[in-house]
Amino acid sequence: MGILSNRVAKVKPSATLAVTAKAKELKAAGRDVIGLGSGEPDFDTPDHIKQAAIDALNAGYTKYVAVAGTPELRQAIADKYKRETGLDYSAEQTVVTVGGKQAFFNLAQATLNSGDEVIIPAPYWVSYPDMTLLADGTPVIVDTQESHGFKITPAELEAAITPRTKFVVLNSPSNPTGNAYSIAELHALAEVLRKHPHVWVISDDIYEKIIYDGFEFATMVKVAPDLQDRTVILNGVAKAYSMTGWRIGYAVGPLDVIKAMTKIQGQSTSNATSFAMKGALEAITGPQDCVEPMVKAFKERRDYVVARLNAMPGISCLTPEGAFYVYPNVAGLVGKKAPDGSDLKDSVDLASYMLEAEGVAVVPGVAFGLDPYLRLSYATSMEDLIKAMDRIEKIAQQLA
Ligand code: PLP
Repeated sequence: MGILSNRVAKVKPSATLAVTAKAKELKAAGRDVIGLGSGEPDFDTPDHIKQAAIDALNAGYTKYVAVAGTPELRQAIADKYKRETGLDYSAEQTVVTVGGKQAFFNLAQATLNSGDEVIIPAPYWVSYPDMTLLADGTPVIVDTQESHGFKITPAELEAAITPRTKFVVLNSPSNPTGNAYSIAELHALAEVLRKHPHVWVISDDIYEKIIYDGFEFATMVKVAPDLQDRTVILNGVAKAYSMTGWRIGYAVGPLDVIKAMTKIQGQSTSNATSFAMKGALEAITGPQDCVEPMVKAFKERRDYVVARLNAMPGISCLTPEGAFYVYPNVAGLVGKKAPDGSDLKDSVDLASYMLEAEGVAVVPGVAFGLDPYLRLSYATSMEDLIKAMDRIEKIAQQLA
């Protein structure tokens, strides 16, 4: 009998964290590497948010607080959803977690029994299937079509639902594609869900503020208020306010589920960091004009990257509505031989070759469940993006 559990054998390490670590390792060894692997804004956290946490620390706000988060932050989250969806949510219907990642983890632990199915449209955020498996659930992966913007259609959802379905995960705008569901698309999915009252929705809205070209973001409960009692919204401050290291996320939903998630948290991490919650409170309730310049910079980078990729042989790339990723199709490059003689059989080989030969770190699409694609994060400086695109173009030209 080995020391490790069967549970840990069921999951993979996060591929995106692995690429980031590999790029850092090569950089530390003196290589000129441009990292397009990490899902992290390159901006500093806005000053007024940092100041709120500094003030909290200086005031001695350094002790345990309530497991589900400070009452003021929970109220602020409830108020945000009242404001944005028009629906009533009480502070008790919110829980503050250690990042959005723990919100999904706690939800899975609190709701899934062995064999319960979670419909996950692919390409998906790398952690959904593994966190489902860690909770003994069964991920049901539904491949989406690039021609439909990598979004699950009502027919695909209908076909995936079984009596064992517990959840469908909607992530809009999406990691890894940046594509987002329109209000009409959410209406159409809600129609299917109305026919299957046992199916709940997980709406991961963490990229809701990073939206371009006037696209109107909507969360499922706003479009379909009748689904409020079977929808759990996941969100956090990491992406919108450039607060990835602060580790503050949250969930909003039906009281019994939120209470169960809090129970899990009470036996694992307890409260999220007290003074980080003061920063998150300032992020959510303070001036919002800090978000706009970041979104503006992301949009310029998106436009640049999409245009460059589409001009390269063997690559085509949709223009995403939000987030800070692109998911180019590299079907025209895989299956080719690299100048060093190696066979680039799939997106993993291609990504490895890009890193080894040209020092560009990207994540292979296989990590997100739909291939042959690459995920590029453009949350990095324009200067680096220009260099990265030049290097990828060189590879594309050599392979084509
Ligand atoms: N959901 C999605 C789709 C994400 O891409 C991420 C982070 O990459 C998260 C949730 C979790 O973010 P965090 O735990 O940093 O708040």
